[in-house]
Amino acid sequence: MMQQYLALKEQAAGSLLFYRMGDFFELFFDDAREAASILDIALTTRGEHGGAPVPMCGVPVHSAEGYLARLIKAGQRVAIAEQVETPDEAKARAKSEGRPSSKVLVKRDIVRFVTAGTLTEEALLNPRKANLLAALAEVRGAVGIASCDISTGTVVLEECAPEMLGARLARIGATEIVAPEDWSLGPEDVTFHPRGDFSSDAGAERLKAIHGVATLDGFGDFSRAMLAAAGGLITYLDHVGRGNLPLLLPPVVRASASGMEMDEATRASLEILQTQSGGRQGSLIATLDRCSTGAGSRLLAEDLAAPLLERLAINDRLELVEFWRARPIHRAELRDTLRALPDIGRALGRIVAGRGSPRDLGQIRDGLAEAVRIHDRVRGESDRPSLLDALLPALTGHGALIDHLAHALVAAPPTERANGGFIADGYDASLDELREVSGNARRAIAAMEARYRDQTGIASLKIKHNGVLGYFIEVPSRHGDALMHADSGFTHRQTMKGAVRFNSLSLHEEASRISEAGGRALAAEESHFEELIEAVGTAREAIAHTAAALARIDVAAGNAERASEGDWTRPEITEDTGIAIRGGRHPVVEAALAKQGDRFVANDCALSQEDRLWLIGGPNMGGKSTFLRQNALIVLMAQSGCFVPAENARIGVVDRLFSRVGASDNLARGRSTFMVEMVETAAILSQATKRSFVILDEVGRGTSTYDGLALAWAVVEAVHSRIACRCLFATHYHELARLAESCESLSLHHVRAREWKGELVLLHELARGPADRSYGLAVAKLAGVPDAVVNRASQVLAKLEEARTETGGIAAGLGELPLFAASLHQPEPKNTPEQELAAKLLETDIDSLSPREALDLLYDLKRQA
Ligand code: ADP
Repeated sequence: MMQQYLALKEQAAGSLLFYRMGDFFELFFDDAREAASILDIALTTRGEHGGAPVPMCGVPVHSAEGYLARLIKAGQRVAIAEQVETPDEAKARAKSEGRPSSKVLVKRDIVRFVTAGTLTEEALLNPRKANLLAALAEVRGAVGIASCDISTGTVVLEECAPEMLGARLARIGATEIVAPEDWSLGPEDVTFHPRGDFSSDAGAERLKAIHGVATLDGFGDFSRAMLAAAGGLITYLDHVGRGNLPLLLPPVVRASASGMEMDEATRASLEILQTQSGGRQGSLIATLDRCSTGAGSRLLAEDLAAPLLERLAINDRLELVEFWRARPIHRAELRDTLRALPDIGRALGRIVAGRGSPRDLGQIRDGLAEAVRIHDRVRGESDRPSLLDALLPALTGHGALIDHLAHALVAAPPTERANGGFIADGYDASLDELREVSGNARRAIAAMEARYRDQTGIASLKIKHNGVLGYFIEVPSRHGDALMHADSGFTHRQTMKGAVRFNSLSLHEEASRISEAGGRALAAEESHFEELIEAVGTAREAIAHTAAALARIDVAAGNAERASEGDWTRPEITEDTGIAIRGGRHPVVEAALAKQGDRFVANDCALSQEDRLWLIGGPNMGGKSTFLRQNALIVLMAQSGCFVPAENARIGVVDRLFSRVGASDNLARGRSTFMVEMVETAAILSQATKRSFVILDEVGRGTSTYDGLALAWAVVEAVHSRIACRCLFATHYHELARLAESCESLSLHHVRAREWKGELVLLHELARGPADRSYGLAVAKLAGVPDAVVNRASQVLAKLEEARTETGGIAAGLGELPLFAASLHQPEPKNTPEQELAAKLLETDIDSLSPREALDLLYDLKRQA
């Protein structure tokens, strides 16, 4: 056994090995130690290996899912080794091989690996969250990403430059990432897989074979990097499922410019799908999500992770939300119906992956039938938007399959198929007959019990059944002797404490009839099961379309529901570079305040090409961050096709959204915080375009006052004059106000505060003009700093301010600084020929040269030297 175990363990390197022994999965050695500590179960020992006792722990097979879930959550992978023959088969095998059958061990094989990205079990998945696996490959400087959700079968291929990989992966949000062995382009936490599997040729071949096509042209235009990633993805899935591939729908290309770009820092700071501490509670989606189905919630998350860029596509979604908002009663009916809808996408995923159950088939049946009813109801509505008309056909067309399943299955099929009982009466005449035989035999046994009671005069005689003995007759001990003698017709089987058990010839006969008919009935059900699985598998693409259409309708109805709850408005999407929001609110902060009975103060934001950068000052806690974020969120929601928390909003489509928060808000991150702040700011300066929207919150505060002010100053100038994009910049540096003199499209704003009877009152109201003072000491007092300290601080402040008036303050002299644009065009000092040569070499991109150009360049350099 140890030999077999160790051989399997070798195949399962990097995973915990669940070794099936009867009703348990056992773990040994280090696996046992690891699992016992994660699962908090007893660690024992069994036998010896190399002279030392072998550590062991185990989990019951019937409750393995829960343990698996905890191991996966703790970052483990698990290999499942099952017995792949029965003990009888093993004995027969030994006999045919001429070995003594007592020594033989049943064969075991790894039947599957359980990893975070390849789960399909309902119990292990969050119904409201997609579970994605991504594979990465690099071909000639381009990174291909293949991502799939194997619980629903969607496959997306995309490509990006290596430096954009982080942002792309942030949008995808995969739970597991697979990369070739020598991968170095990040992220750190990847599963390695042999390099040779990430080949574009093999990827293309696998895709063609899976979808039974001669060319992939019909699916889209795939680059080599995308195909290589797809190759890696498919071979990994093959490996994990031990040759059993999950549902994979035809791949879809995600064009690089198909959605609004947001990098990881932006997503994290806006808390779109989760908060900075990692929970859903308190995130944008948690406040927004009114979907009735898990599939709807998953699609909403996708929408928010990748807002659209095309005005028409955004309007299609908005129109559908509008449609449901205008029909509150029909919307309520629809949402009720949707709430009862099974998750057909995930049921289909399990079926195609070979892990489907009778219950999954029932879910497909009920879900498809419900889709038809939704179709018929929606068809009756007038003024349907075009997106709805485009979705409707996907809701029907499964008539024959629904009939077949309805006919074949009982109303509520079980999850477990081993015990049968899921095929309906009337579907198969021979199955009905077998059931009748065992039904008759059961009735015969019941009659037999009554007869035996009469015959023996023992009123407490019972006929019972258990897994070990099968059917038996039981009487209390004191009546045992009466039945023991040979001509009683009963044969003794077992004496228990308090009872004696017997068999009889007629009971034996009826019992065999039940078990024989039962065995044949099970076999018949099993073969019907296979045939139903096959029927569903054949229709998988159409079923997946139905699931997707239902999810889209659910998202729109949910958004309409949320919009009416919060009195939200439909944003107007334009092609210009303006943002005009009247009465805007922060959806999450507003909801949180409402819970405490507080009101959120709405604020306006009006950015245009002529007034595109707002510098916002005012006291701490005054509402600056909230204002910045609410505007970024409103833009993001609008482009995702949601209504927005405002009286009125006009949004000129934003191509990239950036959100940065000054370092000291991010202390938890570990790395030198100022370094992080600067790296993230640098990314804005290199990636933002004129159509982007940037919010910068207290950037520069992670360092000394002078450095910080200088950097903040330079960043504002660059965003204003070089990038010329829309920007909101919150700062507590009063000195920055002087930028208004040199930057013509920059304006000054502040959050209002008042001191009233010595107390600070924060109004959370935005007003034009510079902040008059910072109220830092008043905020300190508000925060509970002792009076004595605050009084001392105000003496120090008075001295400092005195000194400032004398010297002109830390920004003295900045007025004479040349403008940012001018500073870029200062004449460079003359270089030596060596420096010229070096500079020329450095600026050459060798990869982009043809051999001919390279030769020319060499001649050129030689001439100069
Ligand atoms: P700042 O960035 O100026 O330090 P914040 O934006 O973090 O201030 O706001 C501090 C707190 O003030 C928030 O947690 C919120 O409770 C409250 N607040 C902010 N903006 C508003 C508003 N518009 N209406 C009501 N309360 C607000």
